[in-house]
Amino acid sequence: MKQKRFFLREDEIPSQWYNIQADMPVKPQPMLNPATRQAVKEEDLYPVFARELCRQELDTEHRWFDIPDEVREQYTYYRPTPLVRAYGLEKELDTPAHIYFKNESVSPVGSHKLNSALAQAYYCKKEGVKNVTTETGAGQWGTALSYAARLFGLEAAVYQVRISYEQKPYRRSMMQVFGAQVTPSPSMSTRAGKDILTRTPHHQGSLGTAISEAVELARMTPDCKYTLGSVMSHVALHQTVIGLEAEKQMEMAGEYPDVVIACFGGGSNFGGISFPFMRHVFSGERKTRFVAAEPVACPKLTRGKFGYDFGDEAGYTPLMPMFTLGHDFTPANIHAGGLRYHGAGVIVSQLLKDGYMEAVDIGQHDSFAAGCMFARCEGIIPAPESCHAIAATVAEALKCRESGESKVLLFNLSGHGLVDMSAYDQYIAGNL
Ligand SMILES: *Cc1c(COP(=O)(O)O)cnc(C)c1O
Repeated sequence: MKQKRFFLREDEIPSQWYNIQADMPVKPQPMLNPATRQAVKEEDLYPVFARELCRQELDTEHRWFDIPDEVREQYTYYRPTPLVRAYGLEKELDTPAHIYFKNESVSPVGSHKLNSALAQAYYCKKEGVKNVTTETGAGQWGTALSYAARLFGLEAAVYQVRISYEQKPYRRSMMQVFGAQVTPSPSMSTRAGKDILTRTPHHQGSLGTAISEAVELARMTPDCKYTLGSVMSHVALHQTVIGLEAEKQMEMAGEYPDVVIACFGGGSNFGGISFPFMRHVFSGERKTRFVAAEPVACPKLTRGKFGYDFGDEAGYTPLMPMFTLGHDFTPANIHAGGLRYHGAGVIVSQLLKDGYMEAVDIGQHDSFAAGCMFARCEGIIPAPESCHAIAATVAEALKCRESGESKVLLFNLSGHGLVDMSAYDQYIAGNL
């Protein structure tokens, strides 16, 4: 069977991001200032994030945000990304389902994260910021930010979760190649890090500890802003380029997805591919299902509680209304480092509460089994995170085989796994 890929022209890269908050039937509850319990205002976020990002974060009115030319120019280095019909996988599964995937692994850093890193670095640069800081788990976000910072002439300081720093040395080297300064977290370089290490001397680190340290650095350093690779609403906003392109490409394929699937860490690649399609569900034109695939080891959507919680270990962030496992939750040390965050973004949390999306949890072994099957059929080795989306897609395709329905399935391939081969080694050796 001939491969079918759907390419858009460069001038078809979206010129605007889609703000789903404008269309949500029930808007997310406000973030709260933990001291006053008052709703957080744009200005309250200025010490931490670039101003334009604060505006985007809280905007529930404007449906579209223009993508700055400087950002769109950088998008041309890898966008539009291909939409691919996964004939090989369909055949392997002997399913009547039509399976498509959006290939975000073609970005220079190998994942969707660059879509937001470029935007965040640009807005920081534009308001005169000199340094950006952030946390990274598996290293995907840190890598994307390090590269974006370099493009816009900023210095980047990255706190990497200690266990990943030790177990994923190549991502650390990638960040260093792009010129970033990388510190394992918890570290002794911040008050938050010192407090954590005093309580738990051998703390392996978590996204929560690394966020506390990065936020503290941003607050204490002049001309320095913090950036975040997921969870926040402005990050999901930037990621909607994925779904907006996919919408046009599905049209080229002459089909429309019945089910849209993505893996879920904080919700940015899920929101990115889903939100543009979801707007047609809100308007009553479509009945698409949306499935978020999270790991069994970090099940905030399937087993977390909805409520106000902090975004970080030390409690520096505003309180956010979200599905959460608790801000002091330290997940098991799974390979899908990008899915180990304790909470879900406020938009996706509200959407799950209101029944616009579903969640499934996937075991680590099942995720790698699906990832290997995909690699053998389609020739791309997926990121351990993306394997969760593939496993959920395979489950949907097998349901179609049983029922005989030929549904159209679309999943987001959020990244490739070429820097994660040690994880595959362990799977192959039976050591997971
Ligand atoms: C970070 C990451 C994820 C998870 O983050 P989301 O914000 O939920 O998308 C998924 N896949 C890859 C490849 C990642 O790097």
